[in-house]
Amino acid sequence: MDEKGLPEEKVLELLAEFQSRDMTYTSGRILGSMCTSSHPLARRVYCDFLESNLGDPGLFRGTRELESMVIGMLGDLLSEPAAAGHIITGGTEANLMAMRAARNMAGAEKPEIIVPKSAHFSFRKAADILGIRLREAELDHEYRVDLESVRKLISGNTVAVVGVAGTTELGRIDPVEELSEICLEEGIHLHVDAAFGGFIIPFLRETGAELPEFDFKLQGVSSITVDPHKMGLAPIPSGCILFRDASYLDAMSIETPYLTEKQQSTIVGTRTGASAAATWAVMKHMGREGYRELALRVMGVTRRLRDGLVELDYQLVVEPELNIVAFNHPSIGPHELASRLEELGWAVSVSSCPPAIRVVLMPHIGEEHIEMLLRDLEGLMRDTPQGVRG
Ligand SMILES: *Cc1c(COP(=O)(O)O)cnc(C)c1O
Repeated sequence: MDEKGLPEEKVLELLAEFQSRDMTYTSGRILGSMCTSSHPLARRVYCDFLESNLGDPGLFRGTRELESMVIGMLGDLLSEPAAAGHIITGGTEANLMAMRAARNMAGAEKPEIIVPKSAHFSFRKAADILGIRLREAELDHEYRVDLESVRKLISGNTVAVVGVAGTTELGRIDPVEELSEICLEEGIHLHVDAAFGGFIIPFLRETGAELPEFDFKLQGVSSITVDPHKMGLAPIPSGCILFRDASYLDAMSIETPYLTEKQQSTIVGTRTGASAAATWAVMKHMGREGYRELALRVMGVTRRLRDGLVELDYQLVVEPELNIVAFNHPSIGPHELASRLEELGWAVSVSSCPPAIRVVLMPHIGEEHIEMLLRDLEGLMRDTPQGVRG
């Protein structure tokens, strides 16, 4: 740190230079992220609540109430209005809390969790932090978890099974209904990771899309992760963990000696109330209708990309169910294709299972960006001799 401080304007000037090197969602060039421009209202509210601390909720009673109301709204959306939970930093922390609750409640000597091969890497962190063994279940030919594989992995040490509703790489929805039956039968905690899918699947279902059940309506489901900072349009960091009832929170509560609450179940102590307030604001403002319209709009853009790729003879990994499209060039490998697209100014990501270019059609990507992308992809097809139709 310097001895003498700089004038505010000078500091801002220096910052502007750094910020100018960041990519922006509004450019429409970020194609591989699950985050997006937050709603302008949410942004404003976030700044207004910057100083509220939900780690000491007795001091911030109003914000605490906002958090409870968000939990209520999300519980309602996911078929259990009495669900208990918290607004936290994101899917990673939510999954960690779910695994912690499941471990504490089961009390197994050598705890294990079963996650699909397609599960988010946050479960590896959770397993490492909690001292749990991670067992990976195989996927079927459509990249959903294979139920036989899950059954084979279940043992007396299994404390949780995870199903994903909207996988990070391909947007696949695991057969949660069947997982629910298995877990009810075996008395095992079923956690559904709907970090991405939780803010789009219910709304697409409301518009008549034939997507499977994945929420608390299924009796075996004990907890759900859903991220308002993905399809919910809330600012980063905003994640949510929901449990079927408060007993799961009690199973990991710790006494807090000097704060205004006596017990704390969250991992983080001092934690932002701005996320809860901003999420409340955007959900109140959008309403179910607003999120339905948003879901239909992103699926329209997804369809345009899907159709354009097929027309150009790119190979789709699977038919998109949600707003994620994964594809390959007939002769250029995905990493090579990603770097060529990067040279053209596109930030895409490459999935690992299977390797493919992965585009997440978040709300900041419009039809106009997809038309430009398709023109570039057409060029890459033309310039590759093996890629020419014949
Ligand atoms: C994004 C994502 C996560 C991790 O969420 P963060 O907010 O990045 O911590 C976990 N699970 C799934 C399915 C995700 O898509």
